[in-house]
Amino acid sequence: MTAAKDDFRTLRLEGLTRSFGGQTALSGLDLTIKQGEFIALLGPSGCGKSTALNCIAGLLPLTGGRIMLDDRQVDQLPPEKRGFGMVFQNYALFPHLSVQKNIAFGLQMRKVPRAEIKRRVAEAIELVQLGPHAKKLPGQMSGGQQQRVAIARAVVLRPPLVLMDEPLSNLDAKLRLEMRTEIRRLHQSLGLTTIYVTHDQEEALSLADRLVVLRLGEVQQIGTPQQLHETPANAHVADFMGYRNLFDGVIEQGGDGEVEVSLLGTTGRGMAANPVPAGARVQVAIRPEDLTIGDADTSSALVVDATVGVVEYQGREFAVEAHLATGEAVHVRTNERPSVGDPIRLTAEANRLLVFPVAAESADSAPGRGSLKLEA
Ligand code: ATP
Repeated sequence: MTAAKDDFRTLRLEGLTRSFGGQTALSGLDLTIKQGEFIALLGPSGCGKSTALNCIAGLLPLTGGRIMLDDRQVDQLPPEKRGFGMVFQNYALFPHLSVQKNIAFGLQMRKVPRAEIKRRVAEAIELVQLGPHAKKLPGQMSGGQQQRVAIARAVVLRPPLVLMDEPLSNLDAKLRLEMRTEIRRLHQSLGLTTIYVTHDQEEALSLADRLVVLRLGEVQQIGTPQQLHETPANAHVADFMGYRNLFDGVIEQGGDGEVEVSLLGTTGRGMAANPVPAGARVQVAIRPEDLTIGDADTSSALVVDATVGVVEYQGREFAVEAHLATGEAVHVRTNERPSVGDPIRLTAEANRLLVFPVAAESADSAPGRGSLKLEA
């Protein structure tokens, strides 16, 4: 199966904006997507992911910005004229049509010759490995199988762009993993340009070439999975990328690079991506896997004592929630199971403590995770 009917080199989203009444759901999304790229739109519920996708699909008119396929402006076109493939969370299959007929439907609407429809449908069914189920109705199949039909129905049209809105969220954990691999395999073999909406950072990191992290309709960061994981732009992105420890702190010795910060009732050293002055309020992000249980050594930039609270077995390691004397919970991963109530010493190296400034306008309000306004 060839990749796309209308090949293009770049899809440019220029200042995509959508408001509902006075409320802005998506604010100035700028992104250039190369043909064949897999982009994930990631963020918590209500951040504007579906709004962005629906605007690109043409299901929602923009209130600002434009969409360009190379030199062609497409945002004024109705959805069917854009010709993008859509895959939704709820599959949206025709319940009274067989797998074959569901997949053939779009081709029939486009008046594709009968013999070609037959060939392309067979090819698509093969691609998503539904051969034995071709004559079944959607209601006779599992959620995973139905989602395969929905994917086949989208790709059979050879769209220039496939838009997927949380396609795996109705599936159980095992199927989700299987289908994730399936989607990646399809993307690799067909080279389909894809925009994929999810709130699951693991899914986004494993599927996408680049991720767009949204919050309250605004882009927080765009980058490869590695860039976002290693160098999140702010505490919100860090939070989303699995930095489960976010602590309030105050800069003791400022600068650009390694800084000294007072946190958790002690002083630590961490890395600030942007200059921060002494006295500035910050948040410090640390990944559970970057904390070590054991004695401090000369490279330890943070040393805190805690008591083991909750221990969860997670395959090859244990996720531990420990508590400091100051009351904060700390999340750490370890290979050896500690006992609940054990005293432990936690250490980390300076390049594992990411220091993010808290925006000035919220400095007077009480700090709290998720309620702070942070500088990008
Ligand atoms: P979820 O993961 O829960 O689907 P999302 O990130 O996709 O969330 P959107 O559905 O894009 O978020 O919604 C973004 C914001 O726009 C939300 O505050 C939502 O309440 C608002 N919104 C979305 N659709 C409408 C609508 N038709 N009318 C009014 N407000 C809307």
